[in-house]
Amino acid sequence: MTNKHRMNRRSLLKAAGAAALGAPLAAIGLNSAFAEDSPADSPVDAIVVGAGYAGGTVARELSARGMNTVVLEARDRIGGRIWTGTFAGERVEIGGGWLGPEHHHVLTEFKRYGLTTVNDVAATRMVMPNASGFAEVDPAAAGAELSALNVRLYAGSEEYFERPKEPLYRRDLLEEIDKLSMADRIAALGLDPVQFKWLDGSAALYAGGPSSRGALTSMAQWERLAAGKPELTTSLKPAQGMTALLEAMLAESRARIVLNSPVTKITQQSGKVTVEVVGGRQYTAPVVVVAIPTNMWKTILFAPGLPPAHTAASREGIGVPHGTKIWMHVRGETDAVYAQGTADSELMQVVPQQELPDGGRLMIGFSGPRLNVADKAQVQAALRKFLPQAQLVAHRAKAWGSDPYARGAWGMRQPGQLLRQLPAVQQPHHRVLFAGGDIASGWHGAFVDGAIESGLLASRQAAALLG
Ligand SMILES: Cc1cc2nc3c(=O)[nH]c(=O)nc-3n(C[C@H](O)[C@H](O)[C@H](O)COP(=O)(O)OP(=O)(O)OC[C@H]3O[C@@H](n4cnc5c(N)ncnc54)[C@H](O)[C@@H]3O)c2cc1C
Repeated sequence: MTNKHRMNRRSLLKAAGAAALGAPLAAIGLNSAFAEDSPADSPVDAIVVGAGYAGGTVARELSARGMNTVVLEARDRIGGRIWTGTFAGERVEIGGGWLGPEHHHVLTEFKRYGLTTVNDVAATRMVMPNASGFAEVDPAAAGAELSALNVRLYAGSEEYFERPKEPLYRRDLLEEIDKLSMADRIAALGLDPVQFKWLDGSAALYAGGPSSRGALTSMAQWERLAAGKPELTTSLKPAQGMTALLEAMLAESRARIVLNSPVTKITQQSGKVTVEVVGGRQYTAPVVVVAIPTNMWKTILFAPGLPPAHTAASREGIGVPHGTKIWMHVRGETDAVYAQGTADSELMQVVPQQELPDGGRLMIGFSGPRLNVADKAQVQAALRKFLPQAQLVAHRAKAWGSDPYARGAWGMRQPGQLLRQLPAVQQPHHRVLFAGGDIASGWHGAFVDGAIESGLLASRQAAALLG
């Protein structure tokens, strides 16, 4: 990347402003602006590995403290598991797309940069599993039944997550609870077969595999953070797109952002940390913040090696193995239909989005391992299980589980991980610190809010280390 692609801070701020006003990224060329060709060995106070929301938060915070910071990002874009793109002529979110009124870190940042949210499209029809397949249900009645089931599912969570932002506050009550998977808890409820499909299908979707993979304490904590209204966790969308906030944060930061730089090795020696990227280029600083998905830690050679909790978290994984998000341009049956599948459905959830000028509608589907998203006919057949008249005009899918720089989709802890790995994975490893939505205390795993929370903690740790 040559100097002509660089932008100074003023033009970055201007670009972020344009993004906030809804200008497409391509038009303002913001991503290419983050390439950097300064000499690798120029002195820096801190290196941040990863330019997602956690890394972006650290970069801004350390810059604000006057620290000279470099961000090394593996991809050719910022954002990580947040990726604002286009499909069917519309701006769409290829990764995370929703926010909620209880996402206080995100909403505070939105206020800071003048960004706004809009309500997500409200579903007017609902299709749910029944005894033999799927059936249309009355949304109000089904919503009431789901709420009643959730009350049973999460009974006791007010006590064991008395302070949901501090999940270990009642550690004494968690010893038995944290061993449980969602499957264990659902099985203990004595549900009828249809109720079982409703809860198990939803748990399997979040767990990115069977519901036995996801910890009860992961979903129960989200439910408590949402004040008992899980439907609110994803009720909002950012009016300017999910990446706009990160662009604004990085624009405010004075950090140098170096794209196309996958980190392979991090070595600590004599009060210095050396970071090596593919191709052998090295960067050195007194402190490094690793802000990459937990599932990726195991791909970096750390010397000295990582502590046991970090090693176990990365080996076991927090990012769920299956989480494919599919944007579908649908005609034929274009009502705002919400549909939920079962644990073994090809499509596990369908969420209605906006109508299109051609009379069609955008819909989002989530699939696990059973759907070959490269095969349009298979995607249409899966959709028709809920919407028999639907015609799939086109689709765009992203399988996050096989993404080389995520190696998992959103995060959800597995049984036992809360007590075994938190707060150990948030602790510094000498001069190497860790940040990421996967290891947040509050909105962990599946939420940008947690990535920002975690980035704020890591930047306080870095500032303390640097005195
Ligand atoms: C399909 C999907 C749907 C989601 N839905 C929502 C939602 O609706 N709402 C919500 O709030 N959240 C949602 N999430 C979760 C949200 O995207 C994440 O919690 C958040 O983006 C995590 O931010 P992060 O900075 O911790 O990690 P990432 O966003 O993963 O950022 C880490 C960065 O590190 C880089 N990296 C990885 N390895 C290396 C390396 N070796 N060297 C250098 N760089 C490296 C990556 O390329 C990436 O840019 C969703 C996620 C997915 C996948």
